[in-house]
Amino acid sequence: MAAPKKGDLSAAEREILQVIAAGDVQEVARLLGSKDVRVNCLDEYGMTPLMHAAYKGQADMCSLLLQHGADVNCNEHDYGYTALMFAGLSGKTDITSMMLDAGAETDLVNSVGRTAAQMAAFVGQHDCVTVINNFFSRARLEYYTRPQGLEREAKLPPKLAGPLHKIIMTSNLNPVKLVMLVRENPLLVDVGALEKCYHVMDLLCEQCVKQQDMNEVLAMKMHYISYVLQKCMAFLLDRDDKLDVLIKSLLKGRDGDGFPQYQEKFIRDCIRKFPYCEAALLQQLVRSIAPVEIGNDPTAFSVLTQALTGKMAFIDAEFCATCGERGAEKRCSLCKMVTYCGLMCQRLHWFTHKKICRGLQEKDAPRLRELNDEESDMVKETASFLAELCLKAEERMASSGCPGPSAPDQLNCPSTSSEGPPSCNQE
Ligand SMILES: [Zn+2]
Ligand SMILES: [Zn+2]
Repeated sequence: MAAPKKGDLSAAEREILQVIAAGDVQEVARLLGSKDVRVNCLDEYGMTPLMHAAYKGQADMCSLLLQHGADVNCNEHDYGYTALMFAGLSGKTDITSMMLDAGAETDLVNSVGRTAAQMAAFVGQHDCVTVINNFFSRARLEYYTRPQGLEREAKLPPKLAGPLHKIIMTSNLNPVKLVMLVRENPLLVDVGALEKCYHVMDLLCEQCVKQQDMNEVLAMKMHYISYVLQKCMAFLLDRDDKLDVLIKSLLKGRDGDGFPQYQEKFIRDCIRKFPYCEAALLQQLVRSIAPVEIGNDPTAFSVLTQALTGKMAFIDAEFCATCGERGAEKRCSLCKMVTYCGLMCQRLHWFTHKKICRGLQEKDAPRLRELNDEESDMVKETASFLAELCLKAEERMASSGCPGPSAPDQLNCPSTSSEGPPSCNQE
């Protein structure tokens, strides 16, 4: 089908552009139902309704237009701007994600040779840059599900592409969450499968570094996921109770303050093993983490998360103390100091939280009383739940055991012996 001519608009199409500018979603929906409106019509400058809506930062409007078949990669604009570029310019991360999910190409360039990420950076919309740079299309992963060149077998079995893509696209990079994503999919709980997945992640990491427009952020993310997958594999090989032991090790707090020491060392070690020493991002991470004593802020996780997603990883009431998911609402009903997204996460954390729970209660007694008044309903609701939970957790502890005080050594974390910060050593 030939592209519509620029500026060749019906009366209804002129109207829809005005209504988009005014932000009236319902009216746009009504007009889209008319046969006089082509969803990919072009105004005088070659802008589609979708480009207008993206530029105006109207998410509902963009969603509606996409549902009606708006072409996300239309490139008829006089200066080569795409809907993704307009989304980036608007500074709206939700619209930027929406365009990417709809299949927006990230490497199209405008008339001055800039990609959408570069345009967004140019106008200071760094959150949008992060969204674009972190996006990873399923198609790019599926390349590895077909034998290339002389290969007799593809590097990645097609059935693993879906579960692996889900892990790549998660915005919560908490290592506990990543291990949970592995654990929840039986296809991934397999040494052979994990080996193939981490090899592909390493190849992608290399590709991100070596491509013309080097994407260090994505390279670090690929490396991080590869590292987590390798750890999962090592635990599956060595341990009877497998991934649960890895999760417990990541959660286990040290004596005294309950700081998850193994998790800190795990992430520091991962960063240290990034294979491209010259990367500016690596040097920036090392500079931020190296002077920090283990147990102090910022944690390696918060530094890494901020570098990879642009977001701050606060340890506050909003986040699950176990898996780092946002919007956690279940509070430990004894200390009221930690929150969880649900029963499973609370249960997973109890073996280590119980050691500091009482201390937190005493330290925060005035606040506790205050909360008791405010949240008495919630406390009642969760009190019996917690009593049962403690019992069950105790039973589980007694029967299965948990990593003892010497666990970090047994877990063979390479940075355990040297208390030093991550450095750029090649191994
Ligand atoms: Zn959770
Ligand atoms: Zn507690």
